[in-house]
Amino acid sequence: MTLISASQIGKNYQTGEVVVRALQDISFDIKPSSFVSFVGPSGSGKTTLLNLIGCLDKPTSGSLKIADTNVLSLNRKQRAVFRGENIGFIFQDFNLIPVLTVYENIEYPLLMVQDTPSEERKKRVSELLAVVGMAEQKDKYPDQISGGQKQRVAVARALVTNPRLVLADEPTANLDKQTAYMVIDLMKKLRDEFKTTFIFSTHDPKVVGEAEIIYTLEDGAIIDRQMKAGEKHDESFQNCHP
Ligand code: ADP
Ligand code: MG
Repeated sequence: MTLISASQIGKNYQTGEVVVRALQDISFDIKPSSFVSFVGPSGSGKTTLLNLIGCLDKPTSGSLKIADTNVLSLNRKQRAVFRGENIGFIFQDFNLIPVLTVYENIEYPLLMVQDTPSEERKKRVSELLAVVGMAEQKDKYPDQISGGQKQRVAVARALVTNPRLVLADEPTANLDKQTAYMVIDLMKKLRDEFKTTFIFSTHDPKVVGEAEIIYTLEDGAIIDRQMKAGEKHDESFQNCHP
């Protein structure tokens, strides 16, 4: 079974006369419940690729299927619905809403994206608050909690809609080393518990070691794939052209 199937994806950005080839010939298959990282230096194409997987942007060439849906055939509105139902996002700078409490930040996607009844909302938010260890801080505002705590709230917010896939673009870039490990560990624990697939990008070689499948990007191309024990029997890399 495959959750994400990308084939020969290319992405060009045109700014005036200049064309930037941000991604070229990107192919991979990712199974459900995977814990994957894309690593590479600044400018290697990590954000561009995550934006494509997150259906926030479209590639210039290639094909992309997520959960058996050809996401490139969706129009803008259909993409938004698809994202709301299937994908959670975690950002480098947390992106919490400053005027909402921890509780309200986590509840937000249930109100805005999925029209969830009030009782179920309460249950879901309380569950996520507990899993990320933020129940006692639920009435605090983002500026009253630490960076690590903010990212735990953001992880809870990404998961509250029960997505199949969570995308995290450099989620540990603004955290100290120890807190970074804690956030990655938390994501792994949630993968185990909810069977959600996590894909995160990083340029930190230490953090990337926590991933089970590691793709290395360089100049917009996948130049390496490493798999940890238990993930060996995957033929999909044969489709890649490093
Ligand atoms: P990373 O996240 O690994 O730092 P990016 O995906 O942001 O890499 O960028 C990949 C390449 O695409 C870089 O050369 C960058 O300058 C270029 N790029 C990214 N976004 C845009 C954009 N909106 N317009 C033009 N060029 C872009
Ligand atoms: Mg980036």
